[in-house]
Amino acid sequence: MPRDFKIYYSEKIADEVSEHVERFLSDTYQMQFRSVGVRIPRQTAWNTERNAFDAQLLLNNAQSEGLSFFLWLIEQALIVDNKYVFGYGETIKGTIVSTARMATRTLTAKEVAFHVGIVLGLKPCDGDCLMKKTDSFEVLIQKPSTLCNTCTAKFQRVKMRYI
Ligand SMILES: [Zn+2]
Repeated sequence: MPRDFKIYYSEKIADEVSEHVERFLSDTYQMQFRSVGVRIPRQTAWNTERNAFDAQLLLNNAQSEGLSFFLWLIEQALIVDNKYVFGYGETIKGTIVSTARMATRTLTAKEVAFHVGIVLGLKPCDGDCLMKKTDSFEVLIQKPSTLCNTCTAKFQRVKMRYI
């Protein structure tokens, strides 16, 4: 577990969105989230047909620069295997989330918290839980803003292991 979790933004993310996301993450995981600043996605990861960034390429770029345990919030759309996604993350490495199809900052924060959970070692959960996999807007809107008891306990164990 890192001492703090870094957050990068693309240029056009509004302060009210970033501040809400940071607060929501701190409340959910009770750890330090630190806004590092603007990070511009490399054009080599841009897919002109889809008008979106390839999330796995962006994540690999960041990893090759030595980044880990980070969130990168961008305003452009994201694809994984040529399909549109809200966000993408891998355990320990980091996560990239798009605000492109997010109607509110609340939905953005929920989606971000799910992917940050994955980076921190949680798995998608079938319960009534923030870690429910978001494959549609309906799920994102309806799922709760908090972890279920099982995931909360699991996260406490993960935290203990590293501290
Ligand atoms: Zn859960």
